[in-house]
Amino acid sequence: MRFTKPRSLADAVARRPRKVVSALNGVELDVMPGETLGIVGESGCGKSTLARCIAGLNRPTAGDILFEGESVVGLKGARRRAYNRRVQMMFQDPYTSLNPRMTVRDALEEAITVHGMRSGAAVGRRVEELLDLVRLPEGAADKYPHEFSGGQRQRIGIARALALEPTCLVADELVSALDVSVQAQVVNLLMELQDTLGLTVLFVAHDLRLVRHVSHRVAVIYLGAIVEIGPSGPLFANPVHPYSRALLAAAPSLDPAKRRRKPAIAGELPSPLDVPPGCPFHLRCPHAGEICRREKPALRPAGAGLAACHFAEALPGA
Ligand code: SF4
Ligand code: MG
Repeated sequence: MRFTKPRSLADAVARRPRKVVSALNGVELDVMPGETLGIVGESGCGKSTLARCIAGLNRPTAGDILFEGESVVGLKGARRRAYNRRVQMMFQDPYTSLNPRMTVRDALEEAITVHGMRSGAAVGRRVEELLDLVRLPEGAADKYPHEFSGGQRQRIGIARALALEPTCLVADELVSALDVSVQAQVVNLLMELQDTLGLTVLFVAHDLRLVRHVSHRVAVIYLGAIVEIGPSGPLFANPVHPYSRALLAAAPSLDPAKRRRKPAIAGELPSPLDVPPGCPFHLRCPHAGEICRREKPALRPAGAGLAACHFAEALPGA
């Protein structure tokens, strides 16, 4: 899958009578089949918009999304439905999307039959299979959503997404409402399913430790643009872009003694209506130079991946 959005915010604003907020700006992203790509950044940076565009819930005003070589932005009718089935979005609280008056069996059967995935007796067998895949006991099928814990409901949400036999799952803050121990169980289940079913997963989260644990590659987003992307291990061990470094340094530590010493990222996240010229991070960057105020840096090879910084290779520790 490939996501490109070549127009700049300035183009978007110029083409419209009123100012528009461009949540994404020049994002170009390749997602490999069977990989988990983590997407991180401060809240309001455009992570969820990117996830929703890929899942087909938001339509980009410019640019394109290619899925297995085919443009999906203009898809209609049966082809749009096929795309919507193959790319499934999972949310923070599946409770809001589960009908309280439907048992788990009814909800799963509905998902299976609406899309014509199975019929007759095969539907019931598929329900059992799905519950087994997400490790819910057989008796779960005849219960209602309120009878489950948050972690179990998230498993039901995953089962319902899998009912449509997707090739790609988009998880936006999938476990952030759960207790830490339950988070680990759900995330490990997701990793296992990704591996056994060969799924492509987009894992959007603000918890960097989780993203590191789950993802093969990570994209760091700032003001709607990717500022660094690369393999998860090296990127977390040696981030190159000053924003990635600040984000990692500001992440809460597990050690309470260290927690107090964590520096926050200097300054405020600018409004997406007022993206600074040059490097979008220059107002907050400790390494900003003259060129940073004038020229927007392009993504280029740096560290183990790509970074959009004029001084990526020259910064201390790079
Ligand atoms: Fe900082 Fe300049 Fe690099 Fe932007 S381009 S991150 S302002 S050093
Ligand atoms: Mg969000």
